[in-house]
Amino acid sequence: MYDENNIFAKILRKEIPCDKVHEDEFSLFFNDISPQARIHVLGIPKFPCTTFSDYLKNADNENISSFFRSVQFVIDKLKIEEYGYRLITNSGEDGGQEVPHFHIHILAGEKIGKLR
Ligand code: 5GP
Repeated sequence: MYDENNIFAKILRKEIPCDKVHEDEFSLFFNDISPQARIHVLGIPKFPCTTFSDYLKNADNENISSFFRSVQFVIDKLKIEEYGYRLITNSGEDGGQEVPHFHIHILAGEKIGKLR
């Protein structure tokens, strides 16, 4: 069940501000408030969805392909492809997800350590 009052829903409704990196019809990208690397951008679809699986199961193909193309657009905009980056999506309790609106973390700008 999607919580309309989660923090990213409020950012999408512009009820609270964000440091925007890119926005288009289907997606919004903004800097993480508590960056874990020199570059730490969050990408969210505007479609209301809790997790990666919820998004893939319920959004239409145009929405999904546009969102993932926008991830690459932002990678190009940040000029991080050459040196590398890490994409993460945390899902659910075991995945350590804190905000229940599907999002992709884009981490870059330095060597990102091992996962564990
Ligand atoms: P999760 O743990 O759900 O994968 O990641 C949630 C991320 O959202 C965290 O990295 C956290 O720092 C970030 N975050 C939480 N609240 C806000 C906020 O109000 N603004 C921004 N820009 N990031 C937030």
